[in-house]
Amino acid sequence: MHELSLLDNVRTILEEHARSQQFEIVDKITLEIGALSCIESEALRFAFDTVMNNSLAQHAQLTIKHIAGQGRCVACGKMTPMRELYDTCLHCGHFQLDILSGLEMKITELEVR
Ligand SMILES: [Zn+2]
Repeated sequence: MHELSLLDNVRTILEEHARSQQFEIVDKITLEIGALSCIESEALRFAFDTVMNNSLAQHAQLTIKHIAGQGRCVACGKMTPMRELYDTCLHCGHFQLDILSGLEMKITELEVR
């Protein structure tokens, strides 16, 4: 499952931060998930408990923020909203879009002690 390996990375990042910034417990964590990243929030929440079990984020409260997808059309140059990776331009129907946002998956907020 995609979400598991992703959260493994998050756990590794948290453990590295805990060492360099000297905290022991993560109380809250906010993850930003792009609409085009193919990550399911429900699967992510489910996997979170599994992956963080016995870690410093074991009891952390998880918040998921969604980032809308947006692209710029290669043909007409206009910005177009994207709900899926292979969406076409809303204005001219062209299929080639430069993705500007929507692919991200990052930790944006942490509350630690
Ligand atoms: Zn276009």
